[in-house]
Amino acid sequence: MVDLSDATFDEIKIPDMIYEHFLSGVGLGAYILYKYLPQGADPLGPDNILGFVSGLLTGTGSFMTGRWLAVCKSPLTGGFGDANCGGTFSPAIKQSGYDGIFFKGQAQTPKMLFIDNTGPQLLDAADLWGLDTVATEAAINQKITANKKLAIATIGPAGEHQSLIAGISNDGGRMAARSGVGTVMGSKKLKAVVLAGSKMIRSQDSEAIKAISQDYAKKVKASNLPAIATGAILPIMGKSMVATDKAIPIDGMLSTAIIKKWGTGFTNTMGMTMGDTPVKNWKGSVADFPYRKYRHLNPDHIQKHEIKKYHCYSCVIGCGGVCDISGISKGRFLHTHKPEYETVAAFGSLLLNQDRDSLFMINELLNRGGMDSISAGNTIAFAMECYEKGWLSQEVTGGLDLTWGNAPAIITLVEQMIAGVGFGAILQHGVKKASEILGIESAPLAIHAGGQEPGMHDPRMDPILGIHYSCDPTPGRHTIGAGSYYTYMRIWEDVTWAPKVKLGEDKNDEYEATTQVGLKSMINACTKQILDGSGGCFFALVSGLNHFKIFDYLNAATGWQKTPNEYMTIGLRMQTLRQAFNVREGINPRDFKMNERLSGNPPLAAGPLKGKHFDIDEMMGIHYQFMGWDKKTGIPTKTALEDLGFCDLEMEGFIHG
Ligand code: SF4
Repeated sequence: MVDLSDATFDEIKIPDMIYEHFLSGVGLGAYILYKYLPQGADPLGPDNILGFVSGLLTGTGSFMTGRWLAVCKSPLTGGFGDANCGGTFSPAIKQSGYDGIFFKGQAQTPKMLFIDNTGPQLLDAADLWGLDTVATEAAINQKITANKKLAIATIGPAGEHQSLIAGISNDGGRMAARSGVGTVMGSKKLKAVVLAGSKMIRSQDSEAIKAISQDYAKKVKASNLPAIATGAILPIMGKSMVATDKAIPIDGMLSTAIIKKWGTGFTNTMGMTMGDTPVKNWKGSVADFPYRKYRHLNPDHIQKHEIKKYHCYSCVIGCGGVCDISGISKGRFLHTHKPEYETVAAFGSLLLNQDRDSLFMINELLNRGGMDSISAGNTIAFAMECYEKGWLSQEVTGGLDLTWGNAPAIITLVEQMIAGVGFGAILQHGVKKASEILGIESAPLAIHAGGQEPGMHDPRMDPILGIHYSCDPTPGRHTIGAGSYYTYMRIWEDVTWAPKVKLGEDKNDEYEATTQVGLKSMINACTKQILDGSGGCFFALVSGLNHFKIFDYLNAATGWQKTPNEYMTIGLRMQTLRQAFNVREGINPRDFKMNERLSGNPPLAAGPLKGKHFDIDEMMGIHYQFMGWDKKTGIPTKTALEDLGFCDLEMEGFIHG
């Protein structure tokens, strides 16, 4: 624990029992926040705690487990905040000798933390303040000589001036983007965390881990699409997937084959015909952004710029890539990380923007500026709808013509948001703040859940996604769960009480608040906690737990002999702790309900989701019930807390009342 106010360090020993209760990663983060963060702390004040945590499995020889999380009290939602990121930073945390590095207090002048095998030091970073994330990494590499390649996590200008949608970047533009974690880092005047340790990371049974890894790698290697498959088939695949209302539980390795080939970009066009991809601030459909427009987003066209593949640490899938954009940017930037689907959709169909080159530019601007692309895209979509309605004039926008699809105006606005100037100064804090500034009548157009803008996946296609958008302690998250993810995971092969998805099941059943839906959403939430406690990648999860043997990995790494059912209890405990944190901070869980537009109120008039709707209030209730939280309020019940062993923790002085 680094106290930035007085430049002191404290090493906290974590009892084994805490790992058994909460794993590491997000669970360790939740434990530290609950225990050390004073109730009611101002998210941008000295009492907030910002943590960088690695996963329990990171560095043990396991594959697909090299992700780290930033945790803090979120300035966007006022509750638990976290953001997940890949690259090479997670193993570096452990090689520095720690499972997590936490910061409290606030520095007077910009600082960076440096850790090597001799221990931690706070260094002056005044000369780095103002630099973008890529330039910051370059400057630090010039400044610090170490025996190994430095792992650097940094904020850009957005975090420095405390835009509420700022993230933290590592490895030249991999972003821990959500929850405003970069905003908190900026509020602490912490420019960067720089790691150069080389300590051993040990596990209980490295031979067992090796065997699990080899088996998984073999399967990933063998999962390939036919060589003739091109991006042109993706819209057709999308159409065929929604052609029937019956469930077809295909093997998750098919998703791995697709991700290996295109990365997340496969959804750029497939999502349009499925209805998964939001259009025109979530009020449109493929009828507003037809094939002749979205065909420019075919991932094959994006891949043409790819000069090399990108794998995070310990990754055998490799969904990433590095693209040459020197021509597109007219020499301003040489490279960018291959734009993720989320960015392409948030700045493509959501804004009716068909200009592919603009997406590469926006991607790099946001990565360098250190701003969340999902939040930024949703916020600009809101502004464009206000402009369409005549609620915003060019006088207010500073002369910007915010007509749908105006790519040059979108780029200018992104630059303004990152710098916090012009009309961008109003949008830089996300859609909720922007609608508060622009006036109450704009609130229905502001698409968010509890202050966090949702990912680019439409709950009207997959209502369980809407449950997670609305019920997760970090709302608006597309990576927590969905009906489709549940099917891919095939968790019923491990967890005895998990319902099996049967061939031919009616998918429309997921539009009702049934026992099956409650069970599935509860299992999704718990499994995601286990993944985030382990440092696991979401794309390994959807390759199927019948292939990605996370429970076996955990037992081999720790020496525990826990069953998958017991791990689910751990996941439930982790999620309940995060929820308890929110309740303690005064959040009414029902206030995290997503914008009604996303549950089909009113329903869409065209496209594959025409007429689809569900009752989100009821769906939230059934999820709460299966989590052991009060069905009406979402507050964890006393019985659930007792069953999960929080009373034992009380004896440890952990839960205070
Ligand atoms: S699949 Fe993609 S996000 Fe996941 S670990 Fe590999 S490169 Fe990183």
